[in-house]
Amino acid sequence: MNPEAQQDVSVSQRIRMMFYMMKPNETSFQILEEVPDYVKQATPFFISLMLLELVISWILKGKPPGRLDDALTSISAGVFSRLPSLFSRSIELTTYIYVWENYRLINLPWDSPWTWYLTFLGVDFGYYWFHRMAHEVNIMWAGHQTHHSSEDYNLSTALRQSVLQIYTSWMFYSPLALFIPPSVYAVHLQFNLLYQFWIHTEVINNLGPLELIINTPSHHRVHHGRNRYCIDKNYAGVLIIWDRIFGTFEAENEKVVYGLTHPINTFEPFQVQFHHLVYIWTTFWATPGFFNKFSVIFKGPGWGPGKPRLGLSEEIPEVTGKEVPFSSSVSHLLKIYAVVQFALMLAFYEETFADKAALSQATLLLRVCFIILTLTSIGFLLDQRPKAAVLETFRCLVFLMLYRIGHLKPLIPSLSFAFEIFFSICIAFWGVRSMKQLASSPSK
Ligand SMILES: [Zn+2]
Ligand SMILES: [Zn+2]
Repeated sequence: MNPEAQQDVSVSQRIRMMFYMMKPNETSFQILEEVPDYVKQATPFFISLMLLELVISWILKGKPPGRLDDALTSISAGVFSRLPSLFSRSIELTTYIYVWENYRLINLPWDSPWTWYLTFLGVDFGYYWFHRMAHEVNIMWAGHQTHHSSEDYNLSTALRQSVLQIYTSWMFYSPLALFIPPSVYAVHLQFNLLYQFWIHTEVINNLGPLELIINTPSHHRVHHGRNRYCIDKNYAGVLIIWDRIFGTFEAENEKVVYGLTHPINTFEPFQVQFHHLVYIWTTFWATPGFFNKFSVIFKGPGWGPGKPRLGLSEEIPEVTGKEVPFSSSVSHLLKIYAVVQFALMLAFYEETFADKAALSQATLLLRVCFIILTLTSIGFLLDQRPKAAVLETFRCLVFLMLYRIGHLKPLIPSLSFAFEIFFSICIAFWGVRSMKQLASSPSK
């Protein structure tokens, strides 16, 4: 093992890794098992940088960088997307290892800085093409659209990740497995993802000559825009040079309006993740002809019979600058409640990742179900759906049950009893609300 590389990542390294400012000799590992889970270790920095952005935005603009309901939904998608990794190694790594073990042509030295820099370029090049195809191929867009569904643009938007995306992205990295060891690839795959966190902000304007080479907040704002000039532009991960080379670069000019061209108008996590799959399914059956059906899946999201592969730009709704983002009309008190419940769920989520090796499969599965239930219930509350009170009553009951049986451990043992009282009050509150709603529903 390289003596300078450590599985325990120092504070300096943790800060630098958020900006890809790492040296080859401190991040080179002989075997995959030695590679730290950098993304997991970045959680405190995600939170700290989001708070810093909040403060800077208040100072510079006198307002927060986004809205609470939208930010909660983004973090919720981030949590959702990481849940499968509790059960198995990611498909991006599994397929890579398979290709490496069976088809590799050359075995580049894992400890050479040249291999490190080549992998940096290779992973970023693979990301560019994956990302471009994720916008140009409808079935891949079904996953990636989740990331674009926020109508705000701030650091929380970076966390709005898709559950499905990983099932197509692996293909674009597999060719690297013909010559680059998995341990080197696994490092860069994480840094490439982490780098893209800080560029999701409006508090950084222009970075001068750096804008020529690297992906910056300005370039990525264009990528998240639904203005016509922004569509299908700036696919870069770390280096903007790929967009400049392949003709997809666009500089930021008129004010960017963020989000999907057809906003989804919901905070419910399953809709955020899977609504476009349903759209593809219905369009597939409604479109006549075998080749047309095939095109629905593999051509661009804007394609239709008789149109070019990526659809017609004039069909993209024009922005006026007066668009009103979808927002929740629930009271401030209910929003505070949602934040408290979300924070509790996050604490259990973090603990589950930290303890996963020691937990039984049953506990792991029950915890994941509880996390998904919490995300859904908070989505229902923010959307003010008719069944929100019933679902929240059920969720609080499930919490108490899992807590009593021991599948959820007390976060602070001395407050265990207070926890139970709090959730009992929640059950009573939401239970009464459910009854009232049932009593006043028109079917009664
Ligand atoms: Zn994108
Ligand atoms: Zn983004």
